[in-house]
Amino acid sequence: MSDFPVSLLKGYEDFMSGRYVEESGRYRSLAEKGQKPHTLMIACCDSRAAPETIFNCGPGELFVVRNVANLVPPYEPDGQFHATSAALEYAVQALKIRDIVVMGHGRCGGIQAALDPMDEPLSPGDFIGKWMGMLRSTADQIPSTEIMTQSERQTALERVSIRNSIANLKTFPCIRILEEKGSMRIHGAWFDISTGELWVMDGKTGDFIRPQA
Ligand SMILES: [Zn+2]
Repeated sequence: MSDFPVSLLKGYEDFMSGRYVEESGRYRSLAEKGQKPHTLMIACCDSRAAPETIFNCGPGELFVVRNVANLVPPYEPDGQFHATSAALEYAVQALKIRDIVVMGHGRCGGIQAALDPMDEPLSPGDFIGKWMGMLRSTADQIPSTEIMTQSERQTALERVSIRNSIANLKTFPCIRILEEKGSMRIHGAWFDISTGELWVMDGKTGDFIRPQA
């Protein structure tokens, strides 16, 4: 007997009798013709901030990279293992995606860890500490005076980090060249998981504003 989680099997059953039936033609077509997603989305692993759910997208629409705190590392062709960079490369060079969204969210545990690093790593590898170290110098610039509450500091870093990731995106030659030619659009977004509000980044000022539908 399998110990595969029953809740997942139940969800799959519902999917097959519901959404899959509605979209079976689309799945078949995507299988035959291949995927042509319109947007590359860089999002957090957080279970409350799933891009396909938030943007109500069906199969084949979003090419999604999820990592802790939706960070884009700088371009580093050093022969190491770069999961996010590999996904970026495939999305831009093979799938020819020309819209990239970096989406952060409220109450992000990764951002919290960058703001207030834990005294002890979660494991000897300290993978989160190392990964969030990418934001160390940025986090150090968020004021820790009493005039800002902890949640205000966190929201600030969540948004500053999105701008930081966008700056790192532009260190990838393939993205920078396309952006300079005007054929690549890079966007920032921040999702408030408590209210469901979506905020998008103004490309000129970097401010986060409520989008006009
Ligand atoms: Zn997060």
